[in-house]
Amino acid sequence: MTVYPAELRLAGRRAVVVGGGGAAHRHVAGLVAAGALVTLVAPGTTPALESLVAAGRGTLLPRRYAAGDLDGAWFAVAATGRPAVDAAVARDAEAARIHCTTDGGSPAPDPQASGGGVVLVGGGPGDPGLITVRGQEALAQADVVVADHLAPQELLSSLGPHVEVVDASKLPRGRAMAQERINALLVEHALAGRRVVRLKGGDPFVFGRGMEELEACAAAGVPVEVVPGVTSAVAVPALAGVPVTHRGLTHEFVVVSGHVPPGDPSSLVDWAALGRLRGTLVVLMGVETASRIAAALVEHGRAPGTPVAVVVDGASAAQRVLRTTLAGLPEVMVRESVRPPAVWVVGDVVDLGAQLAGSGARRPAAG
Ligand code: SAH
Repeated sequence: MTVYPAELRLAGRRAVVVGGGGAAHRHVAGLVAAGALVTLVAPGTTPALESLVAAGRGTLLPRRYAAGDLDGAWFAVAATGRPAVDAAVARDAEAARIHCTTDGGSPAPDPQASGGGVVLVGGGPGDPGLITVRGQEALAQADVVVADHLAPQELLSSLGPHVEVVDASKLPRGRAMAQERINALLVEHALAGRRVVRLKGGDPFVFGRGMEELEACAAAGVPVEVVPGVTSAVAVPALAGVPVTHRGLTHEFVVVSGHVPPGDPSSLVDWAALGRLRGTLVVLMGVETASRIAAALVEHGRAPGTPVAVVVDGASAAQRVLRTTLAGLPEVMVRESVRPPAVWVVGDVVDLGAQLAGSGARRPAAG
């Protein structure tokens, strides 16, 4: 649910904090600093918390929470770490129209109570400025970040020293095992009460195996949030000046993975249908297979002279844009020593970008 961020003026006003642990401590410290009249309800408190209440304008009620404790309060904090008690406080506050915040308190094995969970964040195509606001916020709150090599690496430098960064692109063993290992890592950390960000390149659900990770977390009872990202399928062409659609020119764009070439028995792609396409075709993971894909498209009807743009290392300082045609693509890939990551785009929209190249249109500065 969306929350409304507000700054409360509580000087001289009663605020009730229920709970005596670390979470309560943080809130009491802030409330005392804000000049609130704090009532702390807790059968036991830490010495530091007790002295904070005593030294500030506060009252300690050394007992369990009871109905009526919120009377006269403007603000309440439920921070006992016991879900039933916190829920009772929240319910009483709601009934009395008192703003209330619940704070899970010290880490516990129950991920719901501890705040442990996984956020699957689409990091965008590589420029650190192209992550979403929510993605950046999740990163700022993370205890553990499990990052792919195509995720914007620069974002990792802004993480605090306490954040554990796991480089998922260098996990040992084969691809399938690595994915299992990643899933297991996400679950283990979250169940230990940690806030885990799974930082991926582009969008988590565009050839990103995001759903597999989500399913693994769900199966283990770990809460998962999905933060969509700016996919390279659209953004990398855009940064090269190539729009995937254009009014009057193309009414569709199709994004296809080239990692399995045409004719391969495990292919799930109807290459003949893509050859008949009039609009824009965007190929990801298609460096090794470029010549076979180009041949299949021409075989099924696409004109050999159809413009193609290959964008290598998009959204980075090393970005290169190579312009050619379907017929010329194999030679360009070899001559220019194209290595992943690269996106290539087929269609008339490529010529729009060519007209603009050198006209002053710019991509955001990377790094
Ligand atoms: N989930 C990602 C795609 C993962 S598949 C997304 O939504 O963007 C990996 C492929 O994405 C690469 O092989 C390449 O084709 C493309 N790609 C990702 N980032 C790229 C970049 N910065 N420049 C060029 N291609 C990129």
